[in-house]
Parts: sequence; structure tokens; C-alpha cells
Amino acid sequence: MNATEIFNETRYDGTPPAYTSAGGKKRLLIKNDGKHPCAVCGRSDIEEGYSTYKAKGGLGVISESFGESSSLKNPESPIVCRNCEAAVRDEARSFNGVILGGGRSYIIAGLDNKNIGKDGYITMKDVANMLLSPPPPPFVVAFNKNYVGKDGTHFLHKAIVNYSRGSYYASINDEYILVNTNLLSRFQEFLGLHSAPKAAFSLYSMRYILNCMIDLDQIRLEESTETETDDPRLLRKRKYRDAKKEKLIKVIEKEKAFADNRSLLEAIFASSDNMKSIGMYLRCLNAGKAKAAEEKKALKAQKKEAEKNVQ
Ligand SMILES: [Zn+2]
Repeated sequence: MNATEIFNETRYDGTPPAYTSAGGKKRLLIKNDGKHPCAVCGRSDIEEGYSTYKAKGGLGVISESFGESSSLKNPESPIVCRNCEAAVRDEARSFNGVILGGGRSYIIAGLDNKNIGKDGYITMKDVANMLLSPPPPPFVVAFNKNYVGKDGTHFLHKAIVNYSRGSYYASINDEYILVNTNLLSRFQEFLGLHSAPKAAFSLYSMRYILNCMIDLDQIRLEESTETETDDPRLLRKRKYRDAKKEKLIKVIEKEKAFADNRSLLEAIFASSDNMKSIGMYLRCLNAGKAKAAEEKKALKAQKKEAEKNVQ
């Protein structure tokens, strides 16, 4: 099973409506008899499909100027299977992402996406929760290179099919990010515990504080083993170190919430993959927040308008 098959099954029950271009042209349906694999996904059991490139009598699935032939399993093949044809249409390219599985397709609409609110579309706020609790396997979590709307790229055929809900890969176009749901839920708890201090939304400041804590530990370790000395060079070194210690303590005290959660921070930064997944999660949260603020503002304006009408 591959990602385009799951897309076709969950979004179109396996039978997408026929594709017609804006100019009214149709794809060229061709027979295969198992001779060629699908140019996109490489499956080799197709009897009928669509012409890969422009041909006499119909549209090709892939444009001659497609710049990512390396992402295709068999770019030389003349045929594309039905699943992949549906997954590389302009509509699919405009999605900001998808979460597919459990018989349903959730299409992600970024902030600028005009499909927000339409049936089957979810926003980044929903994504944050779905990352913690993905659909039953096999499932796909895939993001386009642009997550706010407009100008996407073909990304579905590059997504990974997952079979574990606790640890899975989310793809962002060409990148594959290992998401650990246990770690994500701990992080969410952490944000909740400290009512999301401002710095929590910057991975860099969190990393900075963690580094300060590590440096401070190192200084304390050095202090615990040092002996008395009159050596001016050594004394100068210690004076410099004491000043650094003072500075580190000040930083950490300012961010007490982080200092108290050192082990969690260390777990979060233990792997770059996890750091990325959390970065992605934060982007989702932020996008969700921006949207919520917008909705609140619109509601307030509506209420004001209604009051005006009553008077
Ligand atoms: Zn295919």
C-alpha cells in the first residue's frame, strides 16, 4: 500500500471523478497489460492507466517541465496508475497538507486557503490534536512545502505510509520527521503547566536556557574539585569563571519554569528529529492561535453590529 492509494481510497472511495483541464481536455486512457510499472509509485500490476507525458489524443499526467523526476519511481514509464493520477492533480497540489486514514481524508487548509470551513477541510489547530492522535493505521500525515496557502507542490506521492500511532513519520515535502506522540503530549502538558510562557514559543530560547544549565553544572563540578592556590593565572581564570556563573544563574532564574523541567527539556532536545517535530507542532499551535484570535475579533464585530441594529 502506498500514499497515493490511501489518498484515492479515503478521498474518492477509489473512483475519482474524471479529470478535465480548464481548457476542456481529458487525460489519455491507455492499456498496459502489466507491461510497465506506474511512473509515479512503481506498482507493477496495472492493466489500464493514463499516459505519463503529453500524447496525441489527450493530456499527459506529468508535464514535460516537471522538475522533480527524481521523486518518481519510474520516470521513463509511459503509464501512470489511477491512484497517482488523482494525487498529482492541480487540486491536490493546492492542499496545504493531508491526514489520511481510517477511511477518511482530512485536507489541511492553511491560513490563507480559501477552502477553510469547507467539508473535509481542517485547520492547523485541528492538526495539532491529530498529530497527538493520528487515524488508525495505515495512515499518512503529509504537509506541502507551503503551509499557509497558495503555491504548493506535488507532495502526496512522496509521503510515507505509517503503521504505528506512537511513533510515525510526517512528511513535509522532501523531509521526513519522526514524530513521537509520547514526547509531544509531554510537551503539551509542559506548555499547559506554565501557561505557555512567552519563551516557550521559541525553540532557540529554550535551547539557550538548557545550554546555560549545562554550563552551570560544569562550573559546579569544577568548583567541587578545586584546591587553594596562589597562582595568579589560575586565580584570574577563576574570577572570570565566577562572573560567568553569576550571569548563568541570572538567565536561569529569569526562566524558572524551564529550569524546573530540565529533564523534559533534555528529552525534547535529545534528537534533532524530535526537535523538528516539536517545531512543526509549535507552528501549528501558533497558526491555530492566530486563527482563534481572528475568529474572536470577527465575532466581537458581529455582536457590536447587532447591538447597533437593536438601538
Ligand atoms: Zn501509481
